[in-house]
Amino acid sequence: MTLLELFRNIRPYARPYRGLIALTLGMTCVASFTAQVNAWVLRHTVDSISSLVAAHKSLIDGLPLLTAISAILVGTEIINVLISFGQKYSGEKLRILLSRDMAQSVIERVLTYRLAFHSVDENQPGRLQTRIDRGVESLARLVQNFFIDILPMFASAAVALAMMFQANFYVGLTAFCIVPVYYCVSRTQAARMAGSRRMIKRLRENKSQGILGILESMPVIKSFLREDIEESKQLSLQDALTDTQMRIRKTSFLFDGMKSFMEQIGAVAIILLTTYFVLTGSMSVGAIMFHLLLFNNVTAPIRRLHLLYDQMNDALIYAEGFFEVLHADAQVEESGTYIPPRVEGRFTLRGVDFTYPANATPTLRGIDMDIEPGRITALVGLSGAGKSTLINLLDKFYQPDSGEILLDGVSLRDYDTRALRANIGLVLQKNHIFPGSVAENILYGKPSATREEVMEAARCAFLHDQIMALPLGYESPAAKLSGGQQQKIALARMFLKNPPIVFLDEPTASLDAVAAEQIKLGMDAIKKDRTVIIISHSISQIIDADSIYVMRDGRIVEHGTHRELFNSGGEYHDIFAAMARSLNMDKIARTLDRA
Ligand code: ATP
Repeated sequence: MTLLELFRNIRPYARPYRGLIALTLGMTCVASFTAQVNAWVLRHTVDSISSLVAAHKSLIDGLPLLTAISAILVGTEIINVLISFGQKYSGEKLRILLSRDMAQSVIERVLTYRLAFHSVDENQPGRLQTRIDRGVESLARLVQNFFIDILPMFASAAVALAMMFQANFYVGLTAFCIVPVYYCVSRTQAARMAGSRRMIKRLRENKSQGILGILESMPVIKSFLREDIEESKQLSLQDALTDTQMRIRKTSFLFDGMKSFMEQIGAVAIILLTTYFVLTGSMSVGAIMFHLLLFNNVTAPIRRLHLLYDQMNDALIYAEGFFEVLHADAQVEESGTYIPPRVEGRFTLRGVDFTYPANATPTLRGIDMDIEPGRITALVGLSGAGKSTLINLLDKFYQPDSGEILLDGVSLRDYDTRALRANIGLVLQKNHIFPGSVAENILYGKPSATREEVMEAARCAFLHDQIMALPLGYESPAAKLSGGQQQKIALARMFLKNPPIVFLDEPTASLDAVAAEQIKLGMDAIKKDRTVIIISHSISQIIDADSIYVMRDGRIVEHGTHRELFNSGGEYHDIFAAMARSLNMDKIARTLDRA
């Protein structure tokens, strides 16, 4: 990203604060002149006192001069303090407001992206979070520093240089010559450090992702006693980060030394030149101080030029990643315009192929299916066969590479995505629980629902009595509930949403037998008059289905009713028999017979 592109990208965010920026610029203008007052006063003081001394005047004769100088210096300082406060306050305000706006817009944007965006490696949560945080921080800080640091200093330098030229062309020219040399050194410094900065950015993203991974996997790490492996993985990332940071610092200090040396050479040149003019009678003694102080004002921003470069490079590098996230237009979820008056729930799939963006090989191949409305369809198959992927496509989380998916005769592509999902309920094996109370979590299914409706939904999911037994009832933190209870929250959410189409992806896999039975009863209630697609490894749920599709390696290999498929002795027969054996059905049957 070039600097121009960077400013073009920031401009829309700065536009609402034009008034604030104009105020800051006004203050900068005043400050650039007040910054030169000291040099002017010093010259005047030295020259006036020199002439008083030459004329053998007493202290009393110098009093009016001293009073005037004191008044000017104190007055200027009061203005400087006020302006400096104003600049810092408005700069900080600008930074805070810009950070807020940028962070909000990136979140709003990411919420519109399709799931495929999140499935690629570089957009894993830790990496994405670092990219967003660092991007917002460095961009907002660049804008802030530009207005409270960089711009005032450069304005003051320009005025100081103009005054030097005006006082003496040759001294002005000498001061001016140092600027391009400084600029070249700063540029070289920035170029040397750019590669390392990019590496730091990548390492920081990896580090955040690593920390997030450790925190999320704590029980597994501990149970496998793998603390040392995780420590050393993190340590090698930290080491790489430290090395790169040290390399950057070393380069930075080296160039700082060079610049400081050149500045001193410039100061010596000014002293020699002004002394020459003083000795040849074309300048007063006060002009030496005058020019030296002005030269100091000229070099002050240049001395900090590398900081500007640092910040700009940081901003450029982090902005690249940040604006990539913000402008990933191709990732915005597609939506058609069709809003169905009523959804019946008939899915038709013809020749559907699908490959995950992160994968090389297809996950679904040539899928043909007819899912009848108001019926229960089960998807059966070994792990990794593609059952959940199929549901992801029916929910329009991903688009097929080829083939077509129709709902009630209309292509899913033509559906308004929000209208489509409003008609679909999804219960997964592990359902997400948001931070907050049980009531808030159930309300996620229908935010406008009354407390009565929430309780009714919880009753349907066999959860109400358990919640009421908790000291805080529906206000209990949902994250503290057991896995089974959290699963029931997901079912209650679904009851509250009350959609005509329901996808159940192994909804009882993480439950105990009693909870599974209760949830089965809850699901039986859900299934009534709805189109249900269920993925399950539970015999009891599969044999209830009106129609069963058997999948293997991303293909549909069998289709029929339970009896038809079982009698055909194919893949379904084998899976079903294995399920029955795993349940030890013979022994269970004998036990029940004896009872
Ligand atoms: P299970 O019964 O174990 O849940 P499944 O039949 O539901 O399995 P899927 O979850 O659909 O299988 O996975 C099918 C294949 O797609 C697997 O090889 C899996 O690794 C891959 N896959 C699933 N989700 C993603 C993803 N987000 N990105 C890349 N590959 C994925």
